[in-house]
Amino acid sequence: MQKIYFDHAATTPVDPEVLQVMLPYYTESFGNPSSIHWFGRENRKAVEDARLMVAKELGANEPSEIVFTGCGSESDNMALKGIVSAHKDKGNHIITSTIEHHAVLDACKYLEKQGFEVTYIPVNTEGMVDPQEVFQALTDRTILVSIMHANNEVGVIQPIADIGKVLRERKILFHTDAVQSVGSIPVNVNDLSVDLLSLSAHKFYGPKGVGALYIRKGTLIHSFLHGGGQERNRRAGTENIAGIVGLARALQLANEHIAENQAKISYLRDYFIDNVLKHIEHVHLNGHRTQRLPGNINFSFEYIEGESLLLNLDLKGVAASSGSACTSGSLEPSHVLLAMGISPEIAHGSLRLTLGKSNSKEEIDYLLVVLPEIVNKLRAMSPLYDSSRASV
Ligand SMILES: *Cc1c(COP(=O)(O)O)cnc(C)c1O
Repeated sequence: MQKIYFDHAATTPVDPEVLQVMLPYYTESFGNPSSIHWFGRENRKAVEDARLMVAKELGANEPSEIVFTGCGSESDNMALKGIVSAHKDKGNHIITSTIEHHAVLDACKYLEKQGFEVTYIPVNTEGMVDPQEVFQALTDRTILVSIMHANNEVGVIQPIADIGKVLRERKILFHTDAVQSVGSIPVNVNDLSVDLLSLSAHKFYGPKGVGALYIRKGTLIHSFLHGGGQERNRRAGTENIAGIVGLARALQLANEHIAENQAKISYLRDYFIDNVLKHIEHVHLNGHRTQRLPGNINFSFEYIEGESLLLNLDLKGVAASSGSACTSGSLEPSHVLLAMGISPEIAHGSLRLTLGKSNSKEEIDYLLVVLPEIVNKLRAMSPLYDSSRASV
């Protein structure tokens, strides 16, 4: 049976070209960048070259604005906790949205326990944040706004540049979680007018366990990993050189091919969406129709449990994801779909397919054969579906 991967928002494989540049740092080039000798100096250069590459790819003004971290979650935590800790004498108010990744939401929950106040901006039914609502929530105690660039469940792309422009004038620090957008759509820190931006290598064909945080020059931030003076005292710990070199090369490669991949992947996305809407009844597309990532598809199927759909797709060799997070046996509907005003019943029937550069039209066509079969089979077993049809 063929195995088809439609879960690129969860993670991507390491590009062979990326792996090639990483390998020497696990063997002959093993030096500690902080060492004075040749082994160390060589690797210091590798890390600083990677920093320069990442800065350039993000349109940053200086390489020193890039801090390498252990993952996207760490970048988000560092941005939120590091900024509010350094600015708490100016105020205690944070603004974010209801559809953030848990790395941001749970850091906010933690900060609320520490005495900070958090405003969660709602989204409309298409999953969009209204910039006006962000501006109206500002108070003279607001020290940080954090709104994600693109959502990981429904792929909706937020108007970050519009928000950033006003926050820049009002001198309010602005962070964006760009973990889903970097490498998929063009991302430039100056065009977006952000002060901090999170990214993670494994979402764009780089290795797992390495991320970066862009911090605009002059932004006061506290470190919460103390020890050595690495990363200009902003993040202690011997550098993950192979990971850092891999992250930089993966970002360069992704941006080099961004236009062609965007065109190819969004074509497959739209082809799939159009066919599902045409051939399957009682189905809803979640998220904005066009303001969404090239590879994101998110549907809710009425009268179906997303989990059954996933298991049946897995039996047919198709790897997908549900919009809902499964926490220790209890199936909680997705906080993102609920925030968009979708009922818990319909949120439970959601399916997320996230396409990548290796997916083909043949794979989509295969899915367009097996998906309706599975949907029909599951609905035939649902008493709710029968009664609703009988009443029509
Ligand atoms: C994956 C993801 C993260 C977390 O990144 P890790 O590197 O897995 O920690 C954060 N935010 C968003 C939007 C993501 O998609």
